[in-house]
Amino acid sequence: MADAPRYRFAPSPTGMFHVGGARTALHNWALARRTGGTFVLRIEDTDEARNRPEWTEGIIEALAWIGISADDPHFEGPLYQSHYAGAHLEAAERLYREGFAYYCDMTPEQIQERAKAEGTTGYGGWSRDLGLEPAPGRVLRFKVPMGTTVVHDQVRGDVEFDNGVIEDFVLVRGNGTPVFILANVVDDMSMGITNVVRAEEHLPNTPKQQMLWTALGHEPPVWAHVPVLVNEQRKKLSKRRDKVALEQYRDEGYLADAMVNYLMTLGWSPGEEEIQPWSAMEETFRLEDVNLSPAFFDLKKLTAFNGEYIRKLSPDELFDACRPFLPDEWGDEPFRSMVPYVQERLKTLAEAPSTVDFMYVADPEIDDDAWNKAFAPDYAVPLLSDVVEAYATCDWDHATLKSTMEQLMERYEIKLGKAQAATRVALTGRSVGPPLFEALEVMGRDESLRRMRAALERIG
Ligand code: GLU
Repeated sequence: MADAPRYRFAPSPTGMFHVGGARTALHNWALARRTGGTFVLRIEDTDEARNRPEWTEGIIEALAWIGISADDPHFEGPLYQSHYAGAHLEAAERLYREGFAYYCDMTPEQIQERAKAEGTTGYGGWSRDLGLEPAPGRVLRFKVPMGTTVVHDQVRGDVEFDNGVIEDFVLVRGNGTPVFILANVVDDMSMGITNVVRAEEHLPNTPKQQMLWTALGHEPPVWAHVPVLVNEQRKKLSKRRDKVALEQYRDEGYLADAMVNYLMTLGWSPGEEEIQPWSAMEETFRLEDVNLSPAFFDLKKLTAFNGEYIRKLSPDELFDACRPFLPDEWGDEPFRSMVPYVQERLKTLAEAPSTVDFMYVADPEIDDDAWNKAFAPDYAVPLLSDVVEAYATCDWDHATLKSTMEQLMERYEIKLGKAQAATRVALTGRSVGPPLFEALEVMGRDESLRRMRAALERIG
């Protein structure tokens, strides 16, 4: 029996954790778990100028948030690329010893000049046969063989590259540090990686990396390059232009399950019903079914998914999820009692405070437009006076409060929506808010009547 596959996710901690990276991680996670394999987390932290430890922590935390965690038996890591610098250089030396690589002392300016003189672009392998010894300032280059390189890709099928257009690329810089392409291959090799699933932007590196695998005497892994995510203008999602940080979505009140479900639907369809639990998607996800075109990261759709997931929660679960979004000084009540009534409307957890804030202050701010509109009709003041009178003695539950209002509105021959307007603005200061009769019930008779009477007084 073949050994269990080993997948890996290899982020570079050069910024907040990108949603595209999260999707790649989920793909690897699903495949590792379904096949009984391993998911290796390798932090590619060799770019000292651009890496920060807090970004590494951010990645690990964000992965745990979407359910990819070190507690799972399929998880291995995190491993740090910087710990393996010795192995990267050893591999480079071996390639040199065995004639797969050579030293070159041409500066970028010299290369440019010569290319110009010869009417070519890039480096023409000019130091290949000079037999230069290693020395400070000299780069080590890979001798790209003639012919073609075919990359077998599970998403794209076979992709053929003409080696003639791939220049003898650098493996070790003049200052003695290995380049990304080499470090990435050596790590995959020594970590026993069998499957590389990553973003499309790495496809151009792949023929070079495959040459390195072969030169180092190994079968290359199975490759898969997943199409990029794009924004509404069909431009690649970028951290400068778009909201791409997974952490930011978490902080804005998106649920992890909704995020995971939505990310999985980008470029892949889980079936007729798009809302699916992870357990189902983990079983059905196949790289072969991933769409080749760029996937549109649609914030509206993500938000709609989030609303669906919010509605699936029990009131207790929703309360717990919202609590961190409420100001610390607010008590659990009355929000806890209002949860079932605001659940239907919440699209993100961060919207929770604004649905009930009027309950947490004695005198909510009044929106003048809402106020003027509610009190413009002739019936508004007499009706509100009737409501105050009736509400002073009726039973205090939302059904009774509603039927009482309905009886009163008949006198004025208006519909419920209009009849509620003045009561609502008296209570909340606004024209929109949670269901009125439920809000009244939760606020209680005394406070509700106090606010309605204050409104009548204000009108004079
Ligand atoms: N560190 C690379 C990146 O974050 C990933 C390389 C790979 O997956 O092979 O883009």
